[in-house]
Amino acid sequence: MSISENILRLKSLIPQQVTLIAVSKTKPITSVLEAYEAGQKDFGENYVQELVDKHIELPKDINWHFIGHLQTNKVKYIAPFVYMIHGVDSIKLLTEINKEAKKNNRVINCLLQLYIAKEETKFGLDFEEASALLTSNAFLDLKHISIQGFMAMASNTDDEVQIENEFKNVLQFKNRYPQFPILSIGMSSDYGIAIKQGSTHIRVGSLIFGERNYNNK
Ligand SMILES: *Cc1c(COP(=O)(O)O)cnc(C)c1O
Repeated sequence: MSISENILRLKSLIPQQVTLIAVSKTKPITSVLEAYEAGQKDFGENYVQELVDKHIELPKDINWHFIGHLQTNKVKYIAPFVYMIHGVDSIKLLTEINKEAKKNNRVINCLLQLYIAKEETKFGLDFEEASALLTSNAFLDLKHISIQGFMAMASNTDDEVQIENEFKNVLQFKNRYPQFPILSIGMSSDYGIAIKQGSTHIRVGSLIFGERNYNNK
């Protein structure tokens, strides 16, 4: 199936209120354009340089979501245009985003990344760290960021019960913050489970664009 067919099929499968973020990392401009022409406006990228290059080349009404691990020294490159930063996991990073947003006269939407997987490799805050951050004085001073909610990744496993339980925990935590509308959970392999657990934004790459080949990078 083509990229545009994949987009239309996915959109027909998910509830209307769930936002589909097409994860285009490692994929060429032509593939992003094909998705865009099928009506897709939200795209996700993991690498700063690739995001900057794509932003320059592609239509300016795209909402660019940064979903990777963001280093503080690279915030300045995406601050002028990024629509939302999903992977925020420290007050240090938030403070830097705030500083660069202020320089650009903007308020940048951010999601706190929560650590829910039973794996050592994933980034993120545990629930206690996230609530401590949200009540800290350092956080309350930041006027150029807007926390919209939370992002999380489930364990990389075939065990659907485990994935469901991890998403359930994150939904329960999110429900303690009714002021935050967004829950960014669910990827190609688990978006269906995520939507049942209250996902508002799914981040889908390979189901739309095909498998990624990292050797090209
Ligand atoms: C790559 C990536 C995705 C998309 O993964 P697929 O399995 O290709 O859908 C979603 N979220 C994050 C954070 C990613 O890095």
